[in-house]
Amino acid sequence: MSFLISILASIYYTTAIATIVVYTLGLAILFGSAARPSHRIPRRGEPTVSLVIPTYNEASIIGRKLDNVLQIDYPRDKLEVIVVDSASTDETRNIVNTFAKNHVHQVNLILIEQPIRRGKSEAINEAVHRVKSEILILTDADVTFPSNSVSRLVENFSEPQIGAVSGVEIPVGAKSFLTGLEYGYRRIYTSVRLAEATVDTPFMCESELSAYKTELLEPLRPGTVCDDVELTLTMRSKGFRAVYASNVPFFETEADKLGPKLKHKFRRGMNNQHALIQNSSVLFSRKFGKYGTIVFPFEFFVHVLSPILLTTALFSFLGLAIAAPISAVIALLTATMLSLPVLGVVGASVNRYRGTQSGGPQGSGSWVLGGMAFLAFQLMLMASLIKLAFRGPQVNWQQIPGTRVPVFAEAIA
Ligand code: GDP
Ligand code: MN
Repeated sequence: MSFLISILASIYYTTAIATIVVYTLGLAILFGSAARPSHRIPRRGEPTVSLVIPTYNEASIIGRKLDNVLQIDYPRDKLEVIVVDSASTDETRNIVNTFAKNHVHQVNLILIEQPIRRGKSEAINEAVHRVKSEILILTDADVTFPSNSVSRLVENFSEPQIGAVSGVEIPVGAKSFLTGLEYGYRRIYTSVRLAEATVDTPFMCESELSAYKTELLEPLRPGTVCDDVELTLTMRSKGFRAVYASNVPFFETEADKLGPKLKHKFRRGMNNQHALIQNSSVLFSRKFGKYGTIVFPFEFFVHVLSPILLTTALFSFLGLAIAAPISAVIALLTATMLSLPVLGVVGASVNRYRGTQSGGPQGSGSWVLGGMAFLAFQLMLMASLIKLAFRGPQVNWQQIPGTRVPVFAEAIA
């Protein structure tokens, strides 16, 4: 018995302490970096922009998306809007075509119709081949954004070494415990992305709304499930960096029921894991600058190694709790004490960035709750890692129920 207890205890202490040490160091490095000075070179005239919206069965919301696009404050001769539809089986194409006809003087709207559905990445590839504009902006059908977003995104390209610019998600949902958790989690998530951007480049530019220099883009490999990470990597591999633009919010309705929410997190987590593992050559690669030596390894740890370590720690703790309750209490207290610096860093950083995050409901989330959501998410990442190992990722995914509730940017902003 005492042999079993010492085995459990050593597994617990090794995994728990290793996890805590890496998080403490990683977060200290990320949040310890001073913001990069920005040398804005004022640019004459606006670049040409193509706004690309991939769609699959978005009839319920594509109308409000196009209404939102119509509000964009950008010279009309410099802006084209391209909807790439992958063989939707609902009214999406008809709605887009009718909208284009009815607003022919207000917006240059083009519909590209793919004959079969081969996933969002293939739709993006179609756009990448077609677009001649200097800047390509990707945006999902289910998000809306304020009318100044395009010009604010584009402004960042006045710095010549910037290759991509990401917007920042503001989750929207009915008031509930789950929504509160999401806001808290998002605050931590956004702080980490902003910190990664100060170090070099955020792990990914959000595919719901982000802008790229068209000349830097390459078609995504077949089977890509994580377009946002892949596009950011391509751009970074060419020596350019990305900005996480805290003054460009976008609004996305989050699932407000537990089942769909878990399904959503599970899919996104698995896609990130897939991208991290597929691109493991980026780990500690000098070619990618601090993105390769700090940002990517940190995210690899968060998505792949830390779920394994934390799940092992949890199960050995549960075993210990049954076999030797007093040792378990000591084990838990030790881990909590050792985690205090991490909590301190996260708490301070979330508040530091608070001012830069554009108001809205995001500011109201408790980051402590967000931290608990993070732990739960880690267990889910373990599950998705197992599924990924046995079944592989899914290129065509299902829409998450509850995320197509119409919400208008103006109602929130
Ligand atoms: P989530 O936010 O990760 O849940 O992804 P969504 O289901 O909201 O999809 C994001 C965007 O990709 C939406 O605009 C979808 O219509 C679009 N989309 C998803 N699958 C496909 C596809 O197979 N082809 C095309 N063209 N667009 C897709
Ligand atoms: Mn979505």
